[in-house]
This record gives sequence, C-alpha cells and structure tokens, in this order.
Amino acid sequence: MSAILLDGKVAAAAVRERVRASVDLLHAQGVRPALAVVLVGEDPASQVYVRNKDRAAQEAGFEVRTVRLPATTAQSDLMALVRELNEDAAVHGILVQLPLPAGLDAGAVVESLDPRKDVDGLHPANVAALALGREGLRPCTPLGCLEILDRSGIGIAGAHAVVLGRSMLVGKPLALLLLERNATVTVCHSRSRDLPGIVRAADLVFAAVGRPRMVQGDWIREGAAVVDVGINRLPDGKLVGDVDFEAARQRAGAITPVPGGVGPMTIAMLLANTALAAARSTGPRVAVQEPSRPAR
Ligand code: NDP
Repeated sequence: MSAILLDGKVAAAAVRERVRASVDLLHAQGVRPALAVVLVGEDPASQVYVRNKDRAAQEAGFEVRTVRLPATTAQSDLMALVRELNEDAAVHGILVQLPLPAGLDAGAVVESLDPRKDVDGLHPANVAALALGREGLRPCTPLGCLEILDRSGIGIAGAHAVVLGRSMLVGKPLALLLLERNATVTVCHSRSRDLPGIVRAADLVFAAVGRPRMVQGDWIREGAAVVDVGINRLPDGKLVGDVDFEAARQRAGAITPVPGGVGPMTIAMLLANTALAAARSTGPRVAVQEPSRPAR
C-alpha cells in the first residue's frame, strides 16, 4: 500500500483563495485589512519566514506593514512598538517573529499584544480561550494540521489521535483543537514510555518533536493518517520531517511530505487568522469562516 500524499501546497492555495474572498468582502465594506510583521535582528531563517509571510499576505490582498528592528533593540522599545500597533485601528493583526534575539523576553512581548490582534494565537488569553472552548484566535500550525485533514475528507471526530510533542507552539494547542473536534487524544513527550506501541494504536499521528525521522515506518498502523510537523535540516542540507517518510508511506493511508506539507499551511492559516481578526473588528458587519470550526 502506498499512502495518499496530503499536499500542503494545494491545500494552502485553497485556503488562500478563501482568504482572498474574505478580503474582498472586507474591502467592499470599506475595511482594508492590515497585518503588521515585526522582525527583530538578523536571524537568517526568520528573515526568510518574514519575507514569505509578507509576500503571501500581500498576494491575499492585505496591507502589510513590516517593521525591522536591530538585534540591539531594548525590551522597552519593542513593547512600546507593540503598544502603538495595538492602538492603531488600521492594524488588524500583529505578528512578532520568534525567536527573539538573546536578552529579549518573548513571553512578555507576546503578553503585551492585544489578544484580538494576536494572529499567531499565542497570547495567554487566546491559550485560555482554546482551553475553555471560547472565541479567540487559534495557533496557525495546529490549525494547518487539521485543515489539511479536513480538505482530504479524513475524519477527526471519534478518531484516536496521537500527538508527539507538547510545546505551547504546536503539541499542546493541537491536542486541545483535536479534543474540540471530538478526537480521542493521546499526547506524548520525551518522558513517554513505549512510543512505538502508542503510535501503533493511532488512527491519526501528528509528529512535532524536531527529531529527524524519529517516527519509524513500522510504528504506523496500516491505513493511519500521518501529519509530519517537523522541519529538520540534515548535515547535507536536506530538509526532512520527524517521520521516516519513505517507510511510513508504505503503511499509512495518507501522509504529509516535508517540505510541502504542514509548512505552507502555517502561512495560509496566518492569513486566515488575520482575515478573521479584521472581520471581528467590524463587529457583526462582516462574517468570515472561522478556521477549523468544531463539528458537533
Ligand atoms: P519544541 O522543541 O518546543 O518541542 C518539542 C517537543 O517534542 C517537546 O514536547 C519534547 O518533549 C518532545 N520530544 C523531544 N524529543 C522527543 C522524543 N525523543 N520522544 C518524544 N518526544 C520528544 O519544538 P516545537 O513544538 O516548536 O517544534 C517541533 C517541530 O516542528 C520542529 O521540527 C519545528 O521545526 C517544527 N515546526 C514546524 C512548523 C511548520 O510550520 N511546519 C511550525 C512550528 C514548528 P518534552 O516536552 O518532554 O521536552
């Protein structure tokens, strides 16, 4: 058996088309949805991410305000900028690219964001909203993981989902989103015993550990869906996921590749969150589809 390939580029293009339609709707109401992107320092990977986000947002019709600050920026100046963007009614989404240079407190910066503009969904108020099942903004990568399954018609409700990793960025919010969508969820981490045995019981496997090809092919139950969040660069420069793709695809029913799987979905969901934040800022005037609506 060879798995169906869950193509993140195709799924992301569909999301971006939906976002474009929402942006048109907002324009028709006189709202020019805008995203502010803040990049501090010269980290090469962050520069690439910011460039990609900037381009994708412009293509979707957003106004993009990119603010580049030197690595020597003081915490107080960064917080003052965030406050300014919070108060600017023309800005609907704010993204502070992480990680921040050494010496800056990312947690304090995230907490200083207006939760309604926190399109990464990392503010404690949004974390709480997810845990409580209330309205908020959900983190982009976990949203992308569910969207890619939804688009392929892979059922989540009632499925046994195993999430490898418990970070605040991916594993934990993903587990909560899966619960919200009525999956039965097992969360694993570096202290979990018998990972192969746990993964073999899964209908849906989500790997977000940051360890190249850690998940072996024979851990995968025949027909399971595998979503590989990991992005790992090997010494030869090749990008691989957390799953041994070639072995796993022989057993899985469906699998995301790396690159070209979850990565493009993360940016697409950032755009979806920005459109949602802009629509909510209009009150009931413009309604846009919420990413990953729970199916009850
Ligand atoms: P973190 O390093 O913050 O978290 C890794 C998690 O994996 C931790 O919970 C850790 O457990 C767990 N873990 C580490 N080693 C093992 C192991 N041997 N067995 C079981 N669990 C283990 O990483 P992130 O969540 O931020 O990212 C995970 C991966 O996803 C990375 O490769 C990252 O590059 C990628 N990523 C991709 C994105 C995309 O857009 N595609 C976006 C964000 C991240 P413990 O808590 O016990 O330490």
